[in-house]
Amino acid sequence: MESVRTDFYLDGRWVRAAGGQPLEVHNPTTEEVIGTVPAGTAEDVDRAVAAARAAFEGWAATDPADRAAHLDRLHAALTARADDIAHTVAGELGTPLKVATRVQAGLPLTVLRSFVDLAAHPPAPQTVGNSLVVREPVGVVGAITPWNYPLHQVVAKLAPALAAGCTLVLKPSELTPLTAYLLFDAIDEAGLPPGVVNLVTGTGPVVGEALAGHPGVDLVSFTGSTATGRRITHLAADRIARVSLELGGKSANVILDDADLASAVKVGVGNAFLNSGQTCTAWTRMLVHRDRYDEALDLAAKATDGYQLGDPLDPATRLGPLVSAAQRDRVRDHITRGLADGGRLVAGGPDAPVPQRGWFVAPTVIADVDPDSALAQEEVFGPVLAVIPVDDDDHAVRVANNSRYGLAGAVWSGDEERALRVARRLRTGAVDINGAPFNPLAPFGGYKQSGVGRELGVHGLEEFCEVKAIQR
Ligand code: NAD
Repeated sequence: MESVRTDFYLDGRWVRAAGGQPLEVHNPTTEEVIGTVPAGTAEDVDRAVAAARAAFEGWAATDPADRAAHLDRLHAALTARADDIAHTVAGELGTPLKVATRVQAGLPLTVLRSFVDLAAHPPAPQTVGNSLVVREPVGVVGAITPWNYPLHQVVAKLAPALAAGCTLVLKPSELTPLTAYLLFDAIDEAGLPPGVVNLVTGTGPVVGEALAGHPGVDLVSFTGSTATGRRITHLAADRIARVSLELGGKSANVILDDADLASAVKVGVGNAFLNSGQTCTAWTRMLVHRDRYDEALDLAAKATDGYQLGDPLDPATRLGPLVSAAQRDRVRDHITRGLADGGRLVAGGPDAPVPQRGWFVAPTVIADVDPDSALAQEEVFGPVLAVIPVDDDDHAVRVANNSRYGLAGAVWSGDEERALRVARRLRTGAVDINGAPFNPLAPFGGYKQSGVGRELGVHGLEEFCEVKAIQR
């Protein structure tokens, strides 16, 4: 059944969008249109920002416990929709249902819960000499989000913004906007005060640019590609608006010679292929000590065999399609170029069989990748793993840091102190040692061209705050 949405959420209610050609949403598995959403305009953004501006003072002055209660109600309304959210993400993005349930629907609920707690118990003011240092909400937030984790990336902005006392206008990705509508159904049910959160759908060049360049927006919080992040920074610079950016990555999974190789490779392959490789933190470069290199390639090929492509709703499916035909073509080009640049095909490849219908790419492992080549330097955003041999820890660190990105990474070693030493030398915002679990309270964000600022936990809350010093 097609999901036809014709409204924006403005000032606490659904408002019918003016005419104009709606945007089609596709199911990447069937290639069929599964819904439409309105294509917003700069005037729609004006109305949304005006509503957020008008609501700001009242929301900022609301007692933290009341803000926490609102977020708690939103959590309940979203929990009631978790199944619908997982199916919608499986439909518009192609994430296999099991992963969609656990990650796409489950993770945002965990994150939202953490901000219910932080809203109720915000960091206390500090005393520095004769100064009282307090945090205040930054103002109206313009949130612009991508398609690969269509609920998580919104919640990672909306929850801390609201907890801090900011109001917000969201422009979700035009490729996966249906999930955002479910969130706003939940927001409507939770009864947040009018104007505190607003939704305008549309394209990046029209709605995204209008929001990033809007004089009424105090902070542009963006997740997406580095190229768009650069454009948004330019737009915000004219009025010196705050910008926080969560951008691309090319993270290294460093496997030292004393690692538990079976775990390191299995978890590493799984990480690289999660969500069909459309994950900003994906460990897309596997750096393996030369002594264990051939063994690691065997293990990687075997692990890749287990990633059955297919319909996200089929329980046997471990890998869905890519989000769009354009993305599929881009990823295939990366594979072809990687092989032309001297990479050796270990699994998958451009000619490996894939379902006839749908925008699939076979999970692919390429060995002997030159650390300076495009495959090792550019973000592919598909199920493609580049494997690179390294001589020792110093060499591994050099190769890992040979990137304009610095978002995430991993180190595997039988000696945790040694792993920690290597982890400390990696120029990235996060490093996981020996497959340690994701921590939703830990700061999340990038060094270098992977971004500016941090999301999640206390650090994420602080992104939405100004700091004031009061001397007495
Ligand atoms: P994208 O940059 O094309 O789009 C992201 C959002 O920006 C969309 O809503 C889009 O409509 C909007 N946009 C596009 N052009 C714009 C413009 N000129 N002005 C304002 N807004 C504009 O990115 P994408 O293809 O949707 O997402 C994939 C990228 O996101 C990858 O590079 C990935 O690494 C990155 N990403 C980063 C993180 C992170 O936390 N670091 C998380 C997920 C994805």
